[in-house]
Amino acid sequence: MSRPLSDQERRKQISIRGIVGAESVAELKRGFNRHLHFTLVKDRNVATPRDYYFALAHTVRDHLVGRWIRTQQYYYEKDPKRIYYLSLEFYMGRTLQNTMINLGLQNACDEAVYQLGLDMEELEEIEEDAGLGNGGLGRLAACFLDSMATLGLAAYGYGIRYEYGIFNQKIRDGWQVEEADDWLRHGNPWEKARPEYMLPVHFYGRVEHSASGAKWIDTQVVLALPYDTPVPGYMNNTVNTMRLWSARAPNDFNLRDFNVGDYIQAVLDRNLAENISRVLYPNDNFFEGKELRLKQEYFVVAATLQDIIRRFKASKFGSTDSVRTVFDSFPDQVAIQLNDTHPAMAIPELMRIFVDIEKLPWDKAWDITKRTFAYTNHTVLPEALERWPVNLVEKLLPRHLQIIYEINQRHLDHIASLFPNDVERLRRMSLIEEGDTKRINMAHLCIVGSHAVNGVAKIHSEIVKTQVFEDFAELEPEKFQNKTNGITPRRWLLLCNPGLAELIAEKIGEDYVRDLSQLTKLHKFVDDDLFIREVAKVKQENKVKFALYLEKEYKVKINPSSMFDVHVKRIHEYKRQLMNCLHIITMYNRIRRDPAKLFVPRTVIIGGKAAPGYHMAKMIIKLINAVAQVVNNDPVVGSKLKVIFLENYRVSLAEKVIPATDLSEQISTAGTEASGTGNMKFMLNGALTIGTMDGANVEMAEEAGEENLFIFGMRVEDVTELDRKGYNAQLYYDRLPELKQAVDQIKSGFFSPNDPNLFNDVVNMLFHHDRFKVFADYEAYVKCQEKVSELYLNSKAWTKMVIRNIAAAGKFSSDRTIKEYARDIWHVEPSDLKIPPPNEPRDAGQDKTPNGTAA
Ligand SMILES: *Cc1c(COP(=O)(O)O)cnc(C)c1O
Repeated sequence: MSRPLSDQERRKQISIRGIVGAESVAELKRGFNRHLHFTLVKDRNVATPRDYYFALAHTVRDHLVGRWIRTQQYYYEKDPKRIYYLSLEFYMGRTLQNTMINLGLQNACDEAVYQLGLDMEELEEIEEDAGLGNGGLGRLAACFLDSMATLGLAAYGYGIRYEYGIFNQKIRDGWQVEEADDWLRHGNPWEKARPEYMLPVHFYGRVEHSASGAKWIDTQVVLALPYDTPVPGYMNNTVNTMRLWSARAPNDFNLRDFNVGDYIQAVLDRNLAENISRVLYPNDNFFEGKELRLKQEYFVVAATLQDIIRRFKASKFGSTDSVRTVFDSFPDQVAIQLNDTHPAMAIPELMRIFVDIEKLPWDKAWDITKRTFAYTNHTVLPEALERWPVNLVEKLLPRHLQIIYEINQRHLDHIASLFPNDVERLRRMSLIEEGDTKRINMAHLCIVGSHAVNGVAKIHSEIVKTQVFEDFAELEPEKFQNKTNGITPRRWLLLCNPGLAELIAEKIGEDYVRDLSQLTKLHKFVDDDLFIREVAKVKQENKVKFALYLEKEYKVKINPSSMFDVHVKRIHEYKRQLMNCLHIITMYNRIRRDPAKLFVPRTVIIGGKAAPGYHMAKMIIKLINAVAQVVNNDPVVGSKLKVIFLENYRVSLAEKVIPATDLSEQISTAGTEASGTGNMKFMLNGALTIGTMDGANVEMAEEAGEENLFIFGMRVEDVTELDRKGYNAQLYYDRLPELKQAVDQIKSGFFSPNDPNLFNDVVNMLFHHDRFKVFADYEAYVKCQEKVSELYLNSKAWTKMVIRNIAAAGKFSSDRTIKEYARDIWHVEPSDLKIPPPNEPRDAGQDKTPNGTAA
């Protein structure tokens, strides 16, 4: 190998950031100045940094529109099978840099912005995150959109344009305080409203049956206004659409019937209808049975299915199919993926459209419906499974309840014929749960109404098949599949860690960005001393940069040569931030017991939002901050141990902290984390994992070799066995003196001297109703952490293990995941057909479409 390249030489040589031509730079500068003048209506004397961000965003957006129009025109003409990804969450984060990367414009834009005398990173920081998600589930939807566009699938994301996304988290006196996320305040340059495609959605009312079938009447109508956001593929000129619906009151809302005469009040009451898309429910892995949430779920479903059918019928324009056969090809033309049960009402809604409106016979409608839908299960935690009260559904969607009952009747008849006299089985498999409140089990509805059901990691899919939905898997084993989650390497490597992305490209070329399995080529550099040093150097640079960010934004100083031990994800008992906290206290006590003893310096960083109604999660945040307060101010500890609670963890902050991480904490109780995707982001960015055999950790260990992760603790079988015996926390407390000391300190007010009883609820939970068995894994966890510290002392051995992890991370690209969905569920082929770039216009405007409804 020759000498290492300087950063600048690297940038020039590697084209993953896009080729810089003098011409394209000049063109971008012209675009920027034009938008500053005509769009922002400013000159450079009065323009603010935000004006510059918007001018740049509009300039970059200009490069999307031609590709976007062409892609949609191509879909219209070629009419490929459409993939519809229905999700109540799309956790997109920022768009500017991602767009520049996928269009190959990043270097050119960097240069243009530099020549304009502006700072690119400063402009990028002005953009608000599109925080329309809670955590992993919403972020998965966003990664899938990127991969579907990159693989050239004719795919659409459908969801809700929440006016307020996930709340902003402030920490005040150690407590979480929520602030509204007014992300649209300054306007959103990435969306295009399409009022011409507005659609009605009905609620309430009653059902009238007659010879001509069922009629849902006397409903209240809310309008669904679509906003389209372009989704560019990586360097393939494909631009797909994410269509998000916003609720609008009809102009005659409340003016027709009962409110006649109170015009002012009727106008004010428009809010009632428009509240449907006001705010994202901030629960992660938790079902809250609120009427407004059910309205949201049906709202997106009803608007989306009308859109899908409108597009399907438009493609049949001029077809000679009769009304009765036109829908036969529906499942060949349309695949609908349900991201968890949140959009489950799509199943009875499609049945309603087919049976009540299109007048198809039930059996035919049901066959088409089943062949259209597929359902992804995201959790087996009982508190997260949606079970809507029958009386609520009856009030809001009376016709859908009847249809669900009909589906259930036929479903139970079928089971009864296969398993005569097995009443217990009928009870277990019913869509309707009897009890104090009668409820609809939405997972059962989804399983029955879909042709494929998948879990999101091998271990999770096994649990789905053999435990939670055992009866259903026995009935239809071929329906049950696994699709291990993934992440997009564009955002989670190129965007967030350009230093590492470019270093890898130097070694193995650039094709890995589209085919992440090529990372295995790095294996042959595991013993290359120069490469090892360079990987370590990139990590060190990322750590220094992150330390500077913390100092600038939060006035906290951390030591960039300490190990960055990072635990960022939603705060949840099953994710066991409390176990991490006990480890911190244990390290603290060890330092105090023997201050002269060698201690490998650590900065423990914990971040994540607690659902506002989740008391225990909020107490955990307070505890972490209370422990940090004591540890960080103890002179005996000095710089050996620092504890940081990272405020407002979100996509744009994940992009900063993950590349700076040495140690990734993935320590959920085995069997509780369905997959995790944070774990994959860390692996790809050169962190080592300390984790349990849970979710995708299992497959990470399989890919990299278990010896290259720090795996500890109970396996699923051990947890099951412990449950059988009965988990007794007291036993561990009595046996383990360091655990006892840590727990006693929390209990006695060592970390809360002004309120010694502050953490009573937490301690009480740990002893008496800890469903996630923190004490049972404590000892193995602490011992495993000792091994981590030991390895960290040997920087070279550490970095070699890092390289083995990066080389093994290829499986966890969402491109791989989407290829599997395409092959096994949607039955479509990825297309590497390059849609022609927009600068070679193909008689633009000449070929008019027969009607204007097909967009
Ligand atoms: C990836 C991601 C998650 C999911 O993290 P897990 O550790 O898998 O729970 C949550 N929030 C954000 C902001 C993310 O980027």
